[in-house]
Amino acid sequence: MRKILLSVDGLSVDDLPDLLELLPALSQSQHSHSAACTFEAPLTSASSAWSQFLTGTFWYESGCYGYSRPNESLNKLSVVREKDLLSPIRLLKNESSDSQSAIVNVPLLLPKSESRSWLSDGSLPIKTKISPSSLSERDVYNGYYARPYIDIGRALGPRAHSAESVLLVETRRTACVSDLLANTAWERCIWRVSATDQLTHLLGTGWLKADDLKCSAGIRELFRLINEQISELLKQSDIEIFLVSMFGHSACLAKFNLNDHLAKGGYLHFDDTSRDASQRIAAAEAVGPKVNPTHLRSSESRLDLKKTLAASPVAGCVFINSASSFSDGPVTTRNHSRICNELSDYLRNTLVNIAPFVKIIENPVPVEQRPHVPLPDLVVGIQGVEFNDVKDSGIAHPPRTTHDFEGFFLLPKQRVALSGSVTVDRILEVLDDF
Ligand SMILES: [Zn+2]
Repeated sequence: MRKILLSVDGLSVDDLPDLLELLPALSQSQHSHSAACTFEAPLTSASSAWSQFLTGTFWYESGCYGYSRPNESLNKLSVVREKDLLSPIRLLKNESSDSQSAIVNVPLLLPKSESRSWLSDGSLPIKTKISPSSLSERDVYNGYYARPYIDIGRALGPRAHSAESVLLVETRRTACVSDLLANTAWERCIWRVSATDQLTHLLGTGWLKADDLKCSAGIRELFRLINEQISELLKQSDIEIFLVSMFGHSACLAKFNLNDHLAKGGYLHFDDTSRDASQRIAAAEAVGPKVNPTHLRSSESRLDLKKTLAASPVAGCVFINSASSFSDGPVTTRNHSRICNELSDYLRNTLVNIAPFVKIIENPVPVEQRPHVPLPDLVVGIQGVEFNDVKDSGIAHPPRTTHDFEGFFLLPKQRVALSGSVTVDRILEVLDDF
């Protein structure tokens, strides 16, 4: 059998009935029972969710807990790519030179040899958008854009216009998928639709139900095209389609800056005299008085590394500035666990006053046994709260929605039904031959 994993990230299990109404070809072939899929750590970026799904291991084993990670210094981040993962990819384990795969719009995965047809998701700092390059001889791929905008913040102003751009990009992607699956040899395909996530950011949860939006006709047209593609594929008896969403959305109640909170507790110190920091502050102040410059100041490159004991350079992840992980870290291996325990208590005691549903997970691997790559010591999650990362400027209003850590999984009818809430591991068992 050839297999397709179709991803509609950003939709929750509650959205599934509305989604299946828009995709009747899929609802006829799929089990009506769906399983909510929970990620045990409250890490909510697409990269961290996909890394757990691709490798079947947790953040402290896969080395991916966000789009980027600190390298040598808490002031310097680099993007995490497939080759940086510390665990092997389990999901595509059958991918080899004689078994070809089609990867569309999936975080982390890189273009490989000719055996992997690949369309970028736009999250990696590489020039390649399409691989192999022979694909660009076909007209349909000239219109391929991974995403309509780089930064969701920029899209939040003119929402109707942004929604139209999202729909245009996804419609073109669907045309590319259609060509790719019809004209290349493939055994396994991961096809990720990202309009589902982007439209939820723009329009709020429940947009699948609304038919009074300015862009409703465009939304219906996109799903008509996706449905047509699914219907064509399912006419072939050797194709199975699995449906997955890595995370849902919930209303965003607040945006919270963990670095400011660590500074309040004396764990983090800013140094605004460094060249990078002064340039950023000068730029922010030049924009005032229309905008409060403190809202534009990010924490990037502003940490005083000699004094900082802990920082959160990646949203929700806290690192002890340990000498064993970072070249300028003041915390010795001997003091590492003591400071980590104190910090964990500080966060628990202080955050509980702000939000009752705080989840703090400690890295279970002792510091001496960790790999050479810096790993977070604590991961913090608060339902409905979005954390700033080091590059984020504080913005006055929280975004409309934020990712939450529950998605869903839906299987073809002939497969065993899953229901209730299942782990990523259970799903990977079901997908053992993927
Ligand atoms: Zn998103």
